[in-house]
Amino acid sequence: MRHFPIFLALQGRRVVLSGGGGAALAKLRLLMKTEARIEVFAADPAPEIEAWAAARRLTLHRRALQAADLQGAALAYAADEDARGDARTAALARTAGVLVNVVDDLDASQFLTPAIVDRDPVTVAIGTEGAAPVLARAIKADLEARLSPRLGALARLAQGFRGRAAALPQGRRRRAFWSAWFDRAGPQALDAGGPAAAETALEALLAAHLDAAPQPGHVIFAGAGPGDPDLLTLKARKALDRADVVLHDRLVPPAILDLARREATLIDVGKQGFGPALPQAEINALLVRHGQAGAQVLRLKGGDPAVFARLDEEIDAVAEAGLGWEIVPGITAASAAAASIGQALTRRGRNAGLRVLTGHDMAGFAEQDWHALATPGTVAAIYMGKRAARFLQGRLMMHGASEATPVTVVENASRPDERVLASSLGRLSRDLEDARPEGPAILLYGLAPRAAAAVLSLPRQEVS
Ligand code: SAH
Repeated sequence: MRHFPIFLALQGRRVVLSGGGGAALAKLRLLMKTEARIEVFAADPAPEIEAWAAARRLTLHRRALQAADLQGAALAYAADEDARGDARTAALARTAGVLVNVVDDLDASQFLTPAIVDRDPVTVAIGTEGAAPVLARAIKADLEARLSPRLGALARLAQGFRGRAAALPQGRRRRAFWSAWFDRAGPQALDAGGPAAAETALEALLAAHLDAAPQPGHVIFAGAGPGDPDLLTLKARKALDRADVVLHDRLVPPAILDLARREATLIDVGKQGFGPALPQAEINALLVRHGQAGAQVLRLKGGDPAVFARLDEEIDAVAEAGLGWEIVPGITAASAAAASIGQALTRRGRNAGLRVLTGHDMAGFAEQDWHALATPGTVAAIYMGKRAARFLQGRLMMHGASEATPVTVVENASRPDERVLASSLGRLSRDLEDARPEGPAILLYGLAPRAAAAVLSLPRQEVS
């Protein structure tokens, strides 16, 4: 982000604009929405500017801008649509230490004017850093259609009622009151009887919310999917939008955490600084503590919360504390990895079952039913298998698995930095040493990427 969006208080402050043509008119129409004192410098202004000056909406100076004119100004606009004139305005502004915008010249500008959707006091500003004005216009048109023209009136009523609403405890209960107002009660009352009815409705709504018993704390165990935010379920997304506290794994990427409410407390329980993972008992204690304080807690885990994620231990702790809970499934890494290599996890005639294994358990490398796994056609999704590769290789080959059995390693499945390594049981540990995957990686035992599978099957067909 090269430009940081802010909303500037301009009441009574001077905004200086040099120019009197089309570009000046476009900027002035926006600026006149504010309470700034606008001063226009133009030897030959458009008639609209003259009319606005006559109506005292701005001050018009029929001469060129001078250095002294910039003293104390909040913003300056170079809108002469002439490179030399604009460069002069920009230089004067810089000398005076006033932020300047040169119309249609991104590099010469210190700030940009966004496209605006105006539902005063609600304002949406859209910026593309000059990269795609067409896109900004499309987003603006979309928002204009989506945001009710009554939104401003609703927000203004709310603004005047903030003090009264403070009778509700800050946090979830107050938020529930405001959501009910903006979602249903407000629009209904405005439609039915205008602002006067809406004010009465606001009082009634507050009384109802003050009477309501507080909602108890609750924990949602949700899967965040393998990393691509588009692979988040709608239910997990809604939970992110509502949670007061989000406890997340280190597998959950920032793009997904960005979807949490701005006021939500985000706790990374995957690591402590750069140190080791937080002990399970502490994670359980955090869930219970926040739940008992009445918070809506979201325990967000990578992939599916029920796959190698110590879900039972956390549910036990939460249930024992008498808190309500719910599981929201997610797309597990095996599903994302299989999708990436264009393969199904099961296939008629090849594997009637799918094994979901971990390379590691609490005791170290995990023992499995190696004999069954070595049977031709077996497919297994091996989680946490990177470091166990040599162990897996040894055990499986000892039990008769062919060293030609395909094994595909998918690192960072579904993420922009995804890598696919097509290997075989015999070459697995060597290939992993060469490729050194650093992100989370899953081993798909018995599956080759679809294109490679087609190539590999050629010689066999020739032999038969
Ligand atoms: N609950 C998770 C698994 C947690 S165990 C799930 O359902 O996916 C952590 C292991 O999951 C990692 O070591 C890795 O083997 C696997 N994993 C998680 N996300 C992954 C991803 N995006 N790509 C590849 N493997 C992933």
